[in-house]
Amino acid sequence: MGLAWAVRVGAAVNSMITGGWRSGGGWWGGTYDGRVTEAQATPQTGKRVLLAKPRGYCAGVDRAVQTVEEALKLYGAPIYVRKQIVHNKHVVQTLEAQGAIFVEENEEVPEGATVIFSAHGVAPEVYEQARVRSLKAIDATCPLVTKVHHEARRFAAEDYDILLIGHEGHEEVIGTAGEAPAHIQLVDGPEDVENVTVRDPNKVVWLSQTTLSVDETLETVARLKKRLPLLQSPPSDDICYATSNRQHVVKEIAAECDVVLVVGSRNSSNSVRLVEVALDAGARAGYLVDFAHEIDDAWLAGATTVGLTSGASVPEELVQQVLAHLAERGFTDVEEITTADERLTFSLPQELKRDMKAAAAAARG
Ligand code: SF4
Repeated sequence: MGLAWAVRVGAAVNSMITGGWRSGGGWWGGTYDGRVTEAQATPQTGKRVLLAKPRGYCAGVDRAVQTVEEALKLYGAPIYVRKQIVHNKHVVQTLEAQGAIFVEENEEVPEGATVIFSAHGVAPEVYEQARVRSLKAIDATCPLVTKVHHEARRFAAEDYDILLIGHEGHEEVIGTAGEAPAHIQLVDGPEDVENVTVRDPNKVVWLSQTTLSVDETLETVARLKKRLPLLQSPPSDDICYATSNRQHVVKEIAAECDVVLVVGSRNSSNSVRLVEVALDAGARAGYLVDFAHEIDDAWLAGATTVGLTSGASVPEELVQQVLAHLAERGFTDVEEITTADERLTFSLPQELKRDMKAAAAAARG
């Protein structure tokens, strides 16, 4: 069955678009991005999908995945990748099929081989291990994670106590904490605030993991500030634009939805947060799925409106497969709700770009 497609623009992004759009979150029906053009021909079923935008790949994930792909082309397989390059099962399986080998630690990489560090960042000791093993290291850490590392180093150098809000055991938190273990203590959500102890309440700053719930982090900070009134905030938001934007649009649609489906993997922090945000914002139910076939028909029983989004590490093809799955079950009206226009891109890691340039020059003779 074909899809009928409409586009709704949220107030936040409306001001950025000129011509043809009504202000205040109006509706525009018709074709979009050249993807669906069957609106008039498709019978209306009364069942609809509210499709969130932005969704899916962020700039940091796009760069990390491209880093592995370009490294495979340039150096040939196998290329070793320490940890999952991004937290998505499909991406990892696809890169494995192309010749990437995912390992947990540098010791598993043969001496002298190429290893790529994942988008989540690593502690300084991981670079040192790579140097000792003569590995050719390529750092695919997202620049927005690197920014938090810089902040941690800077505040540690100024002898601050750093309260790092994040989830215990998450790779990003391990990497950031590794920048200054003597200065950093983890605060794992609002309930953990009572466990915080600092040397000097006048010299404390909070930083955070990039993929947290915006609202929960605000609550954690508010509780911290009650205990530590002079607590300083990071120089700029640590929760990244992609995490915030994906949560914002989900909040906008959630109350209208019987069910919100989030495409993403269970170890993807930002994807898991999207389900939580949807439920907090009024969705009657919310589920995380890696693939369309994981959707249980019972979840859709009696539903007329399904919300759909995807985490920052999810390729769009998986969302399109869910749309096709839903269309087969009568959810043929798709309304895409847009609340932000993302254009950020990051260039590939310097070390890779240098080798690509050299290879291109050699090929030219
Ligand atoms: S979610 Fe944010 S911090 Fe993480 S890779 Fe994407 S842009 Fe970077």
